[in-house]
Amino acid sequence: MSRTLTAETVSSTLEELRKRVRETGVPVSFEETVRAVTEACWKLHRRRIQRVLNGTGVILHTNMGRSPLIPDAWDAVRDLNTGYSNLELELQTGKRGIRSGLIPELLRILTGSEAALVVNNNAAAVLLVLSALARDREVIVSRGQQIQIGGGFRIPEILALSGARLVEVGTTNITTLSDYLSALTERTALVLVVHTSNFRIRGFASQPSVRELSSRLPPTVGLVVDQGSGVTRERIPGETPVRTYLEEGAHLVCCSADKVLGGPQAGIVLGRQEWIQRLSKHPLMRAFRPGKTILSLLEEVLIRRVDGLSFTESVYSIPLEDLRRFGRKILKGIPREAADLVGAFGTTGGGSAPDEKFRSLAIEIRTEEKPETLLRRMRDLPLPLIGTIEEGKVRLNLSTLYGENPVEVRNALLAVLNLPEGAGLQERGEVQEVKNPENPLS
Ligand SMILES: *Cc1c(COP(=O)(O)O)cnc(C)c1O
Repeated sequence: MSRTLTAETVSSTLEELRKRVRETGVPVSFEETVRAVTEACWKLHRRRIQRVLNGTGVILHTNMGRSPLIPDAWDAVRDLNTGYSNLELELQTGKRGIRSGLIPELLRILTGSEAALVVNNNAAAVLLVLSALARDREVIVSRGQQIQIGGGFRIPEILALSGARLVEVGTTNITTLSDYLSALTERTALVLVVHTSNFRIRGFASQPSVRELSSRLPPTVGLVVDQGSGVTRERIPGETPVRTYLEEGAHLVCCSADKVLGGPQAGIVLGRQEWIQRLSKHPLMRAFRPGKTILSLLEEVLIRRVDGLSFTESVYSIPLEDLRRFGRKILKGIPREAADLVGAFGTTGGGSAPDEKFRSLAIEIRTEEKPETLLRRMRDLPLPLIGTIEEGKVRLNLSTLYGENPVEVRNALLAVLNLPEGAGLQERGEVQEVKNPENPLS
């Protein structure tokens, strides 16, 4: 935490204790002092950005950093990030270049896009599109798509911020092609189609396809899709790949780079060259442009993505038998009464396919303890273990733990079950209370 911050925390804790002694006249013991100082430091230390074990079964969990990056990609960009790079230098000419490396070409292979542009996140991508193309003009959006995604991304608010005027059409469940067409005026700049990524409207509901819109809108009106999840080749029910929207005639498609695509946090706009060009010249682009760390990582991830699987796909494709073997390794020797394997489902998360689940397995922890208390103790471990409560029991979904070292997961589990490390491996059967040596508060 740095010597300085630690020293500051120690002094302020001691100062509080002194104040208490002065006010009450009751002395504080040495042990109590050490405990207070340790607790203050530990509390601060817990706030550090740190690795956790994701046992939720939600692959793209916004609270847990969305998609993990491929370790090879991370290693590959180390030297260019810790040294100088040609971020904006064209090596062929020695002149100032653009900062996108091979990203547009790689995205073209994945999505069929003519051109592409990268910004800090998808919210920035949508705001840039609206600001650059629709300021002081009108944007038509269906009432079924006036949505909020996660914290603070609300379509009507983003529109207002961009200086564009929102023209609402249709109803929550039904919006027709003629609703769009009759809202067209000479001030219409764009039709914005937003993927309702975190919920579904079922039953009596319909919305014209991008193809229908594209074939009937005048050529001067831009057709923009906020696709969100960044699905390219994955087949996820309920999710339309970026390529499909482009083929159906969308001029621009926006998505996140750190959802299904598996990249670092970024937003991507894909589509027609002349439209992307207009975005790249807008002053906001200067405010939204990512730095070398993000761009180099995205390029590396895309190179691997073009030739192989994304992180999300690799999780989907873990055979249940492998999950079972992994689960057994974790549970080896731990009594069934304490924890056992059960059938479970995983989800994609990250605002995609809200209804879709895939088959998985989970470790169910069977203690008498209140599940909320158990979850909290799991979060307090030196390597925090994040679980869920299902049917009144704490569960650890194996799909999102699969890449982890089973011994590490096992030790975390032993610690919450108050079993000694290596317990069960000797099949002793008896339960022995131990303190976790790494957690000063345990
Ligand atoms: C996730 C999502 C966003 C927000 O993307 P960020 O990259 O988190 O800014 C916007 N629109 C849709 C449809 C999304 O799914």
